[in-house]
Amino acid sequence: MSAMLLHKDKWSEFTGRLSGKNLWAPSLQGGIKKFAPVGEGDAVQLDAENTAVPPKALLFPQTETLFRFSEGQEDLEFPGLDEPVILLGVRPCDARAMAIVEKLFRWDYEDPYYLKRRELTTLIGLACNEPGLNCFCPSVGGGPASTEGLDILMVDLGESYLLEGLTGKGKALLEECKDLLEEAGADALQQKEQLVQEAASKIRRSVDPEGIPEALPGLWEDPLWQRVSAACLGCGICTYLCPTCYCFDIQDELEGAVGRRCRMWDSCMFEEYTKHTSGHNPRPTRRERTRNRINHKYSYFVDKFGVIACVGCGRCSNLCPVNIDLIDILRQVKAAP
Ligand code: SF4
Ligand code: SF4
Repeated sequence: MSAMLLHKDKWSEFTGRLSGKNLWAPSLQGGIKKFAPVGEGDAVQLDAENTAVPPKALLFPQTETLFRFSEGQEDLEFPGLDEPVILLGVRPCDARAMAIVEKLFRWDYEDPYYLKRRELTTLIGLACNEPGLNCFCPSVGGGPASTEGLDILMVDLGESYLLEGLTGKGKALLEECKDLLEEAGADALQQKEQLVQEAASKIRRSVDPEGIPEALPGLWEDPLWQRVSAACLGCGICTYLCPTCYCFDIQDELEGAVGRRCRMWDSCMFEEYTKHTSGHNPRPTRRERTRNRINHKYSYFVDKFGVIACVGCGRCSNLCPVNIDLIDILRQVKAAP
């Protein structure tokens, strides 16, 4: 199926039909924009601003049960992970982030929890016509209409959405909704190209990552790490809300004779993250922890997987309570002797 048009007067019918398939879309929940389930009849509004909580939370929940156990019972009880889900309105940077994080979860050990959810998830992306204040996706290999990781790319043309099926999953979903769609003409495709170019030209921030992965190891003791981390509160927001951060802890929770093993998000910006049982901590201050965060994304991950583990979504700069800015750090790295 080639590119299709969905007129906005059919939008409610389209989302209503998808809502029967476990549909999630951006929603304001307690003042925080994140992905939430869409019930039948719920309005889905896709405005310009990206969610504060990235959709990674659907594939890699903040806390998840790996298995349950109980005293005197040999068998472990594993949770069912067989419910397909559709995420509507995923930004191209967040879909790219899922493709990047998947490299880790497929690496030396295939993580069945993450990979099963990824397999069951259909991603319907929304190109960014209005990039955010701190977006810099083109600097790190993305773009406002990047398709990596997506099953369908959707572009808001004003009166209608242009929908392009990118994978078998995406094309099959469009096929199911074909009575609501019409074939896109050359004018719609041209309008899309123009919007994408305009969006790219509206991106105000940039950094050239050329040379950063190679420079970082030599800057281990550089005073820049003290400077850029001086204001850090160690709150972990920059990692919790980063779509490419995936650090986790595993804990057993017991209640009487039953318990569960769970996995929950952790952050390399927390002091306890690397604290040894002996009390020794190889990253004792925020200087070392900030240095690790940047090295992990712009050096270690590049060495291991050949790609920068940052998609330029700008969340870490937007949401840091003391305005520590990733691009400023990267520029200082580039400027260091
Ligand atoms: S969000 Fe800002 S203050 Fe919080 S840990 Fe990250 S850099 Fe530090
Ligand atoms: S490091 Fe910052 S800009 Fe890069 S992906 Fe994470 S939150 Fe987005």
